[in-house]
Order: sequence, then structure tokens, then C-alpha cells
Amino acid sequence: MDEKRNIECPVCGSRIVGRRDKKFCDVQCRVTYHQRINNDCDRMIRKFNNRLKKNRKILNDFEELGKVICSSKQLLFMGFDFSIHTSIYINDCGDTFYYCYDRGYVSKGRDEYAVVKRETDSD
Ligand SMILES: [Zn+2]
Repeated sequence: MDEKRNIECPVCGSRIVGRRDKKFCDVQCRVTYHQRINNDCDRMIRKFNNRLKKNRKILNDFEELGKVICSSKQLLFMGFDFSIHTSIYINDCGDTFYYCYDRGYVSKGRDEYAVVKRETDSD
């Protein structure tokens, strides 16, 4: 017998009838709910990947211009995002290199950054 509960389906808002652990009114709403979660996750990952790719492109552009030293102002002006990177490397001198894929930067003090390139292993 259906248990009387006052729980609404999070997708369509219908009252849920049935087992106590039932979370959606029907299979279609359950599928829709999980598709939405996956889409949100994909969107978030795409957003981060685009920001990382943009950072890499900015570092690459600086290197191609032959400017290996730049300021944070120059990087920020071009849209660089200092809050994200793909990896960190600390050398024997204690300098921290922040990489966006194979392009990176290291602080040289006084708001100067050296743009660096990492050799990547080819598969
Ligand atoms: Zn529903």
C-alpha cells in the first residue's frame, strides 16, 4: 500500500507516492535529474578547461613575442587568471613554477614573472 507522504518530486514538483526511499515521481524525472547534474558538471569542467587554455595561450604569446619577463599587470591585462594552473614545480632553489599545461611562470620578485616552457613527453 502506498504510504502517505508529503514529499515533492525535485524535478516536476508532483507529490511522490510509493516507497519511502523513492525520490522522484517517475523514471523520466529521475533520468532528467541526473542528466542535469551531469550537464552542470560538464559545464564546470569546460569552464575550467577554457580558463586554463586561455592562460596557456597568454603565456605562449608572451614567449613568442620574445618577452620572457613580464609583470602581473601585463598578464592580468591580457586576461590571465593567477588562481588556476595544472601543476606546480619547486626547483632545488625553492622557486615555485606554476604551469598551465606546458607553459608556466615563476616569480622573479618585484612583480616580475619569467615565462617558461616545459618540455613535454611525446607519446
Ligand atoms: Zn517528477
